[in-house]
Amino acid sequence: MTVSTIWVVAEPSGDSFTAASLELLSAARDLASNVAAITWGEGGSFAALAGEYGASTLYDVGDLRGALPGAPIASAIEALIDGGGAPDAIFVPASYDGRDMAGRLSARLDRPVLTNVIGLEDGEGLVSEHAVFGGSLTVKAKFTGAGPGLFVVRAKSFNAEPMGGGPAQVVAAPVGETGATAHAVIAASHVEERTGPKLEDAAVVVSGGRGLGDAGAYAMIEQIAQLLHGAAGASRAIVDAGWVPYSHQVGQTGKTVKPLVYLACGISGATQHMVGMKGSKNIVAINRDGDAPIFQIADLGIVGDVHKVLPALIDELKARG
Ligand SMILES: Cc1cc2nc3c(=O)[nH]c(=O)nc-3n(C[C@H](O)[C@H](O)[C@H](O)COP(=O)(O)OP(=O)(O)OC[C@H]3O[C@@H](n4cnc5c(N)ncnc54)[C@H](O)[C@@H]3O)c2cc1C
Repeated sequence: MTVSTIWVVAEPSGDSFTAASLELLSAARDLASNVAAITWGEGGSFAALAGEYGASTLYDVGDLRGALPGAPIASAIEALIDGGGAPDAIFVPASYDGRDMAGRLSARLDRPVLTNVIGLEDGEGLVSEHAVFGGSLTVKAKFTGAGPGLFVVRAKSFNAEPMGGGPAQVVAAPVGETGATAHAVIAASHVEERTGPKLEDAAVVVSGGRGLGDAGAYAMIEQIAQLLHGAAGASRAIVDAGWVPYSHQVGQTGKTVKPLVYLACGISGATQHMVGMKGSKNIVAINRDGDAPIFQIADLGIVGDVHKVLPALIDELKARG
């Protein structure tokens, strides 16, 4: 290992870290001998979880008193670095708060950020992989110069695997100067209503595209997702058309999914869509155009009309109970 220390921004989510944070902790411990997690809220209670995923230290910023995390966490990280013992790299999940934090940290540390990272390896320092041109090309990048490298990493780039380590040592990480940013506070937050698994975590994802014809036909996608105990996804075309909320979007500017089965219904297979689902284990596509690009990556292709195939599939799934 040529990398000694990596810090991972571990975003709290209920009584755990977000899945993307756990993925980054798992990746970090494969790349460096010392891994620390940085978290906030009820941070102290995450010592066991952080340790289980490979962190030996948990920097606990504590209660943010309703502030958006970007500014205070960037400030706390800067203070930790100023206190000595800067890491070689800081991994940040590519969430809204993570991106906000990374931008602020970049300005504070006067270091560039590598964003949209989809892979990391050790090659005389960290080498990152990035999908460019809508995922049609992968480029590699590396930091030069001193100081921590800032990496903003896309969800599902790594597997989250516990390693059974003991609790991390908790170290308080106070927030430094944040200027006027403390004036912006979270007034209310809502947990998105859903039945069934989260899109990013579902073993089966059933997605619909413009080929469905109209918003009403999306009910078939939801029904099949429910029958298969999966989640319903969408192409951007139907999100932009207002048929489904953005939270359903799969692709470059939406979510990255890696289910066991991805069923694409009436989706052409634009590179920007495929970059978000091509890591799925089994891809099944239904499209009436036999030349649709989605068939190039499909394991099973059905050339047919979604208005015929999907009702037949629903009947069959219902018959099987
Ligand atoms: C910067 C940028 C970012 C983007 N990010 C994303 C992203 O994150 N996710 C994303 O999905 N897209 C994204 N896009 C948009 C992307 O380029 C495509 O426009 C979009 O994915 C197309 O959606 P679609 O496949 O549903 O629609 P279309 O491309 O219109 O395809 C519809 C398909 O349905 C088929 N069809 C039509 N009728 C039927 C029928 N009755 N039965 C069966 N098949 C039928 C057609 O043959 C066609 O293949 C992005 C674009 C840009 C420029």
